[in-house]
Amino acid sequence: MKLLEYQAKALFEKYGVAVQKGVVIDAPGDEKIRAADLRFPVVIKAQVQTGGRGKAGGVKFAETPEEAARLCGEMLGMDIRGFTAKELLVVEKKEIAQEWYASIMLDRYTKSPLLIFSPVGGMDIEETARTSPGRIAKVPIDPIRGVKDYVITYAMDKTGADKQYRDQLGGIVEKLYRLFFDYYTMLVEINPLAIDTGGKLIALDGKVEIDDNALPFLSDVSAWRDKLQEDPQVIEARKVNFLFIPVEDDGDIGVMSNGSGMLMSCIDLITKKGMKIHAALDLGGGATAERIAEAVRIMLGRKAVSTVFICIFGGITRCDEVARGAVIAMQKPEAAGKNLILRMEGTNKEEAGRIVAESKLPITVAEGIPNSVEAIYRLKYGEGKGA
Ligand code: ADP
Ligand code: MG
Repeated sequence: MKLLEYQAKALFEKYGVAVQKGVVIDAPGDEKIRAADLRFPVVIKAQVQTGGRGKAGGVKFAETPEEAARLCGEMLGMDIRGFTAKELLVVEKKEIAQEWYASIMLDRYTKSPLLIFSPVGGMDIEETARTSPGRIAKVPIDPIRGVKDYVITYAMDKTGADKQYRDQLGGIVEKLYRLFFDYYTMLVEINPLAIDTGGKLIALDGKVEIDDNALPFLSDVSAWRDKLQEDPQVIEARKVNFLFIPVEDDGDIGVMSNGSGMLMSCIDLITKKGMKIHAALDLGGGATAERIAEAVRIMLGRKAVSTVFICIFGGITRCDEVARGAVIAMQKPEAAGKNLILRMEGTNKEEAGRIVAESKLPITVAEGIPNSVEAIYRLKYGEGKGA
């Protein structure tokens, strides 16, 4: 789950990382802005779960409360890279001497938290990465040792950062690191980590990405969920304990399985064959007819999906249940014109085949994943091209 800037900053504040005071606006008018008693000029920032807002017109400056209210009116509801700005954050404008970058992410390569630091941050950090990679340091943090002095020293030396800010930077990275662990995050980022004209480091922007699996332990963060723009199928699936994963917008295949490893194998093989996955759904355990039918219904909630592939590998899972679920789902109006490929292993496999055959619905039963992938390919591109 990606937090909005003001939510990320609330966590920064909790851990003692300096942020600015500000006010969140969700309706036009200037009362809230005036009541917040901010020093002008101010910055108005669209609260959307994506970066690059500055370049997309989502960060504007206002000299007076009137101008701020007018800009808020214009910015509420604006679209920024596919996200709607339902809320705005109004904060005081800082005089900035330098914009740095600092983040900690979970790095799958080193299998450890990774500090990424640059004294050339701000909106053009991607440009810095391309043109002056030497000014960006990536330093793994040993989870046993934590943020030791040498981590900071190395990051600053390597990038030519001004060492007079060493202690401040060290303090901030330590706090970020605690937040990174306590909140089960995949990423915490401050960009810009600004140095103001008084030489103080302050987080002017914030990104926090939390592992969804940890949300049950994080009541404060779960409460923010309503404010976030989430995919309707992801929400629907979560309510009934399925995991729905949008994959590629221009894909047309929906894959379902009982377990993420199997899902990924299916996705790999289908993709290898040059086809595109639109979404994946992890059924978890216990494949009853009702759950299968419900999962197919959720998947078909995506107009882009023309073919659904269900791959169930279960020891004691009853294949007849799976088949019955598939038949229920494919009789529904939303399934008209769609195809379903069914691969199942488990008890009562033969009976399952009979149920499908008798239904006379566009359901293909296939043996094993490679054959299933061939079947999907033939359905899409016709006979003869499948081999
Ligand atoms: P994004 O990363 O989504 O583009 P930021 O919050 O980083 O949005 O803002 C973009 C740029 O706007 C920053 O790099 C900074 O130069 C400027 N900016 C943002 N907040 C402030 C602020 N409070 N005071 C002064 N400048 C700001
Ligand atoms: Mg930013």
